[in-house]
Amino acid sequence: MAAILPPAMLGILGGGQLGRMFAVAAKTMGYRVTVLDPDENAPAAAFADRHIRASYNDPAALRELAQSCAAVTTEFENVNADAMRELAKTTRVSPSGDCVAIAQDRIVEKSWINKAGLPTAPYLAIESVEDIQVDLAPYLPGILKTARLGYDGKGQVRVKTAAEARAAYANLGGQACVLEKMLDLKLEVSAIVTRVSQAQSAVFPVAENIHQDGILDESIVPARIDPALAAQAQSMAKKLADALDYVGVLAVEFFVLADDSLVVNEIAPRPHNSGHYTLTACLTDQFQQQVRAMCGLLPGRTDLLSPVVMVNLLGDVWKEGGGEPNWDVLVEAPNAQLHLYGKKTARPGRKMGHFNVMAASADEALEQARALKDTL
Ligand code: ADP
Ligand code: MG
Repeated sequence: MAAILPPAMLGILGGGQLGRMFAVAAKTMGYRVTVLDPDENAPAAAFADRHIRASYNDPAALRELAQSCAAVTTEFENVNADAMRELAKTTRVSPSGDCVAIAQDRIVEKSWINKAGLPTAPYLAIESVEDIQVDLAPYLPGILKTARLGYDGKGQVRVKTAAEARAAYANLGGQACVLEKMLDLKLEVSAIVTRVSQAQSAVFPVAENIHQDGILDESIVPARIDPALAAQAQSMAKKLADALDYVGVLAVEFFVLADDSLVVNEIAPRPHNSGHYTLTACLTDQFQQQVRAMCGLLPGRTDLLSPVVMVNLLGDVWKEGGGEPNWDVLVEAPNAQLHLYGKKTARPGRKMGHFNVMAASADEALEQARALKDTL
């Protein structure tokens, strides 16, 4: 297929921070951007040429997007996959509705990961109450996760016994779930791959991710693991993208277990919070890759220019009553870069921004990043 060149109009479903950073990348390259998002204050709208204010399921809005854009992508997985398949009849859509459908259902997702020959935590798919009447010992202690619509640790319950698991399942209203064995994690890492075709893909350096209360807090790059293990995570991400015949940016989250083996946790069919370090520390960033892939351009080089640590800024950092944090030290730090998403209201747990700190080593960057966070 012919490459889509500037100043073509590119469309994105969703106008949150990921859509915003996509819009910045696309506009910088000379493309025009249309954002579809119901929220009049959608963070991406500030950088878009056009904001279609409608629900993601609105047929007229989707038709308008398809007719006015040379290619369409998404910033989140909880869009209607059928709507994406419909869009694909009249415009270029990446990733495909099929791939998005896989990523939005933990049961389908895990079976695809296993089908690609990659390990997951032992899990039980629970689609109805009969499914949870089996021996649950292989999955306990475990985490019950809703199959759909979970993010940032939401829709998850930790359970120790079979009785607890069954009660938690009933509490979730009997919706489809997976019961996953709680693994002893040495650490968590992610690898983000950009794939245009089997022959054309590029994987970013592996990030080590530290979570707080189920939400990403810090990404450290290079991950402090054996380089051979990092290379293995990268090749697993590539293998998964190939198995899905994926087009676009695909994030793969891994657990590193005590014996240094890798287990795939979950995938995201889009740029990922753990890839925000690429904005300042890689030759090409993950949003430029998203633009390139949807336009059918070759992926850019992913070389790491400097060790880096990304720190998420949640609403918790804002002062009581919503007052701004003390930015004065952070904005002047010569090796730090602040990114704010332009969200009006700070709420606990809400992703308001992030900052990246570059230093001679990952450990040094981490130490400086934590010290800078303390000044807020
Ligand atoms: P989300 O979609 O909310 O990101 P995840 O499945 O990635 O959900 O779970 C969030 C976090 O919870 C993970 O990053 C990890 O820290 C922890 N977690 C999830 N599943 C397991 C597991 N099987 N064993 C140990 N920790 C887990
Ligand atoms: Mg996750």
